[in-house]
Formats: sequence, C-alpha cells, structure tokens
Amino acid sequence: MASNDKQRKLDGRYLRMAHIWAENSYCIRRKVGALVVKDKMIISDGYNGTPSGFENVCEDENNLTKSYVLHAEANAITKLARSSNNSEGATLYVTASPCIECAKLIIQAGIKRVVYGEKYRLDDGLRLLERAGIEVIYLNVETSETP
Ligand SMILES: [Zn+2]
Repeated sequence: MASNDKQRKLDGRYLRMAHIWAENSYCIRRKVGALVVKDKMIISDGYNGTPSGFENVCEDENNLTKSYVLHAEANAITKLARSSNNSEGATLYVTASPCIECAKLIIQAGIKRVVYGEKYRLDDGLRLLERAGIEVIYLNVETSETP
C-alpha cells in the first residue's frame, strides 16, 4: 500500500474519532471536536465549551453562543499548555474548519498539518493557515470509510 494511501486512511480514522469526541460537547447550537496527534499518538483533545469551572451551558437566554465559549481547537491547544507534551510538528484533526482566532493559535502552537471535516461559513482561518505554510486537508469522513 502506498504511504499516501496509508496516511489518508489514518487521517480518516482520526477525523472520525474527532467526530465522536464532539459528542462530549454540551453546546446545543454546534458541537465540534478536535484531536492533536503527534508521532501516531493522540497528545491532546478538545471540544467546544465554557472554561473549566464555569457552568456547562454554551448558549445565553437568547440562544446565542456565550462570548467566553472556547472552540474545540483552543481547548485542545490550551490543554497542552498544562501537560508535558508539546504540539511542535503535530497534526490537528478538527470536525469543522478553524476560525481565524483558532488559526492564530494553531500557527503559534507549531502545528504543521490540519485535517478538517466540514467547511465553516468563513474561510479566513484556512487562508491564514495556508499563508503560514501549514498543510490544510479537507476530508469528508462519510466517504473515507475504511473498507
Ligand atoms: Zn475557532
């Protein structure tokens, strides 16, 4: 099996895991999951939600997402700040394309590849990642099922 094919299959599996991880999110409007993988090890994970110690409610009384809700990528990257691992050269798997704020964190975290599964309405995050020389891969997990 060609190594590209192998990588694609691995990418599909990790992205499907990120989709499952998104189920942890208690946000109602949108559930996003993220995994940081380095040397074939999952070194961090995240889903969108409020900061540690806050109520597990993402939406306000008008059903709008609270301003202090962290995105899945931000949760995964900041979790690494409290661990002994680091994301230099890692791959980020995220179920939705990163926004511009998360793209900045991804660049500064030394992440070199981003595999995402759903296009967000704005693409400025993706464009920023590409500008920083990060490999950005869109993968539709529905069609990348391993036979
Ligand atoms: Zn974001």
